[in-house]
Amino acid sequence: MKTIDSIYNEIKESLKEPFQKVEEICEYNSEKVIRAFWENNVSENHFNTTTGYGYGDIGRDTIEKVFASIFKAEDALVRNQFISGSHALTVTLFALLRPNDILLSITGTPYDTLHEVIGIKENKSSLKSFGIKYDEIDLINNEFDEEKITNYLKENQVKVIEIQRSKGYSTRKSISIEKLEKIIKLIKKMSPNTIVMVDNCYCELVNKKEPIEIGADICVGSLIKNLGGGMAPNGAYIVGKKDLIKLCAERLTIPGEGKEVGPSLGINKEFLKGLFFAPSVVKSSLKTAILTSAMLEKIGYEVEPKAHEDRVDIVQNIIFHNKEDLIKYCEGIQMSSPIDSNVLPIPDDMPGYDDKVIMAAGAFTQGSSIELSCDGPLRKPYIAYQQGSLTYEYGKIAVLKALEHLTNK
Ligand SMILES: *Cc1c(COP(=O)(O)O)cnc(C)c1O
Repeated sequence: MKTIDSIYNEIKESLKEPFQKVEEICEYNSEKVIRAFWENNVSENHFNTTTGYGYGDIGRDTIEKVFASIFKAEDALVRNQFISGSHALTVTLFALLRPNDILLSITGTPYDTLHEVIGIKENKSSLKSFGIKYDEIDLINNEFDEEKITNYLKENQVKVIEIQRSKGYSTRKSISIEKLEKIIKLIKKMSPNTIVMVDNCYCELVNKKEPIEIGADICVGSLIKNLGGGMAPNGAYIVGKKDLIKLCAERLTIPGEGKEVGPSLGINKEFLKGLFFAPSVVKSSLKTAILTSAMLEKIGYEVEPKAHEDRVDIVQNIIFHNKEDLIKYCEGIQMSSPIDSNVLPIPDDMPGYDDKVIMAAGAFTQGSSIELSCDGPLRKPYIAYQQGSLTYEYGKIAVLKALEHLTNK
């Protein structure tokens, strides 16, 4: 049996090319971020904070301008009052939809935590309970089903189309910016008044373009993922058209007050610093994902995406095809985490998720998945969803150690 180190030495050379691509994108996106800081004159007084109502929080307002610049969006809502990405998606959906409106997902069933929000799974507080209709169209062979989408738009007045770029706990591929651009063009031609909403979780700064600049109306993501750079302790962002952001702000806070209120409670500097680090942290995450893909494929497991493939998000799937290996690998990742390395992850029920889930997450921030984390629902074909790593060096140590644990059965 070969050692993990010798397998690493065999694949090392093949990492150079994909690493170079990731480094080039990191340089491009770092320039994008620093220019947004310059354009909006970020200064030390923006680290100050507000309490109570949060009127006149110039730091918070500047952060929102910086986010809008990065996304080339008219406006942004970036708040610590958002618990996470799921909360920002919930606020957006409730802000945009009214009774009898239709919400259509064209990337199949949305992320697990949205099932009770939409009413796919019964809940008395769902959109469905307010009389909002929902339909979904599956992808076919990882492509948008253009024919079904066209026919649906011919027959129905759709208020919001939701497109989830990252795969969530599914087996499909994530949606590239090129595919997104093409389908948005089609939607806008067929139905110009339909709002195109993008769940951008895990995709920020992975490529050179973001959804708003290729035609999306509104785009949502979490700050305990890519754009928080591992520093934001919670929060989420929404960027897009000014009138839509206003609706979201009035849903999050108070109709009539919207963006004017919401105390930053000391978080402004962490949001800015996290954003500043984000391109580089995304790069580390991508390099860790590429290494993982190359190593596990070499050992004989099925992986998606493969090491040399272009990436859309920071998520690496390992398809274990057996429960024990999935659990073993997650144990290995937990053992090599900086926090709670002594804890053994056990598959369990999670609020918002249907199957039992195993989660390895020894993170500084609870649930942060821009920090190295690995999780998967206990259902066939037993896929591990691994993402994050604040530095590549720590990521590499963890992955190699997890592989030792996996192969030392
Ligand atoms: C992580 C994720 C979410 C939810 O984000 P949280 O911050 O965990 O609430 C929503 N959609 C997708 C595709 C995700 O990957």
